[in-house]
Amino acid sequence: MLPVIALVGRPNVGKSTLFNRLTKSRDALVADMPGVTRDRKYGEGKTGDRAYIVIDTGGITGDEQGIDFEMARQSLQAIEEADAVFFIVDGRSGLIPADEMIADHLRRSGKTAYLVVNKTDGTDPDVAMSDFHTLGLGEPIPIAAAHNRGVRSLIDTSLADFPDADDIDSRTSTGVRIAIVGRPNVGKSTLVNRLLGEERVVVYDEAGTTRDSIYIPYEREGQAYTLIDTAGVRRRKNVREVIEKFSIIKTLQAIKDANVVVLVIDARQGVTDQDLHMLGFVMDTGRALVVALNKWDGMDEEQKKAVKEQIQRRLEFAAFARFHFISALHGSGVGDMYASINEAYDCAMAKWATNRLTLLLEDIVADHQPPQVAGRRIKLRYAHQGGSNPPIIVVHGNQTDQLPNSYKRYLQNKFTKVLKIRGTPVRFEFKTGD
Ligand code: GDP
Ligand code: GDP
Repeated sequence: MLPVIALVGRPNVGKSTLFNRLTKSRDALVADMPGVTRDRKYGEGKTGDRAYIVIDTGGITGDEQGIDFEMARQSLQAIEEADAVFFIVDGRSGLIPADEMIADHLRRSGKTAYLVVNKTDGTDPDVAMSDFHTLGLGEPIPIAAAHNRGVRSLIDTSLADFPDADDIDSRTSTGVRIAIVGRPNVGKSTLVNRLLGEERVVVYDEAGTTRDSIYIPYEREGQAYTLIDTAGVRRRKNVREVIEKFSIIKTLQAIKDANVVVLVIDARQGVTDQDLHMLGFVMDTGRALVVALNKWDGMDEEQKKAVKEQIQRRLEFAAFARFHFISALHGSGVGDMYASINEAYDCAMAKWATNRLTLLLEDIVADHQPPQVAGRRIKLRYAHQGGSNPPIIVVHGNQTDQLPNSYKRYLQNKFTKVLKIRGTPVRFEFKTGD
């Protein structure tokens, strides 16, 4: 589980600037989901080899009656989802009442909070910080986000307070871990109930925050599974807590924690940009994948044809996955998904001996030689497996950095075909020996 840090504070204190510094990502990992995460942005960052998730929020103004209400609600939701909060204040404008209001909320939330004074460039830091001690949130930490000053030490200090990922107990989970993910209302809860069917299950509804999924271990035809249910409804702990069944953090964590992801798409709505964002994240993690086109009941032939065409066009990059056209509501097609889940898991976890991969490489190269570069032929010598879920195949040779992409694709296609890999992406790495 990655640590999650929320950035809160008034508008204009420099939250977005800090977000960009902390994530440096090409762009937010899951871009805005209209209607769900308005004014909340999620990004993944790394310091050294420690990864974390950052949530940016629009801000809290202290005037929550009018249009600012929604923005404040989003901030409170972000605090709820986070392990720690960076409370950003503006060193130039000094302490204002809205800051006190936010501090008050943070103290009562019981979350670990760091008081971060931004824009300390060009000012005397002691003067800039002196005001903020009275907030009662510990020693203020000076930064200048725009100049990347103090940012690294801020994140390193805060992460040092988290246990190492490896030290955290792994979840109550056995067998194949399946995450059911998708936009709100696509039918995840309905599908979870269908997949569990008659199996006797013990649901561990661990007390936790809204971002925790429910882990459900069960057995089916002698095979153990743990279903990671991102759609479970949570009880309200207090009136202030906003209940939101859908959470991006929950989705991201579930995907990371799964062996196989079942992405549920509402066929009646077709493949939307939000579906693609989520799929993009599954692809980044390299998890095995099964796609369920749900609500297939009651669609006419024309609609079905349109959706199938859309899949060909928009989901071509996920062609390794099996697609199922199902009705979670009526149960049709759901049972068949297990064969694809098992296949995807088996392929994702498969182990191939080095000599088998090397013989295969030799065959593939004999069929079609790599090109010459500057009069010298690129040589591919042997291959071994570098990991699983996703499977990684490492190909050794010389001048492999010169291999054209077309040849890499040829290799990948051949390996995938001969090894009968289905349902999981395969990663290739090329190493050069001279
Ligand atoms: P947000 O509304 O809290 O997300 O604030 P922004 O990140 O959009 O920043 C608001 C303004 O403050 C922008 O004009 C930034 O360029 C400026 N700003 C952000 N960080 C710093 C800083 O460290 N020093 C100074 N002088 N200005 C900053
Ligand atoms: P979630 O938010 O993704 O967990 O979605 P739910 O499982 O709560 O389903 C949202 C709505 O879609 C509910 O009204 C379900 O009854 C309906 N629904 C779910 N699956 C199907 C299906 O296969 N066909 C039809 N027609 N409706 C469905």
